[in-house]
Amino acid sequence: MKMNQFVIIGLGRFGASIGKELIELGYEVLGVDRDEEKVQEMSGILTHAVIADATDEDTLRSIGARNFDCGVVAIGDDVQASILAAILLKELGVKKVVAKAVSELHGRVLERMDVDRVIYPERDMGIRVAHQLVSPNLLDY
Ligand code: ATP
Repeated sequence: MKMNQFVIIGLGRFGASIGKELIELGYEVLGVDRDEEKVQEMSGILTHAVIADATDEDTLRSIGARNFDCGVVAIGDDVQASILAAILLKELGVKKVVAKAVSELHGRVLERMDVDRVIYPERDMGIRVAHQLVSPNLLDY
């Protein structure tokens, strides 16, 4: 399935970086954050950026979240908000939901909720760096 439109929940370093890269690659990206400053920072970069609480079902409906091919939940510290946003995106019918986990337990909960892909940024990057250190010719792992 070809992904064209992405909604990113949480525009911290992780979410903002994914959003910028997707824009560079030519995709449409809606960014959502409850922090006005984060939204302002990204508003000229992403296709759209809105101030909203992603744990509110009506809000997610009103921004048309269900029309997106892929949703990225890039909230970390607030585990409850991450879980609520992920389940709402799934229930609204977003085809592929990807979420960041900040701990093994957080990740296990997301996996049990049938989130399509759980990312552990620090762990995954640590693994990549270790492989690159021992195989310097390996450009991408
Ligand atoms: P990063 O490691 O990506 O920089 P962070 O440590 O700054 O993230 P997190 O707690 O992981 O912060 O949250 C990432 C972003 O998600 C923040 O910009 C925060 O405002 C946003 N966020 C948190 N909860 C919600 C929510 N319920 N609705 C919308 N945005 C939220």
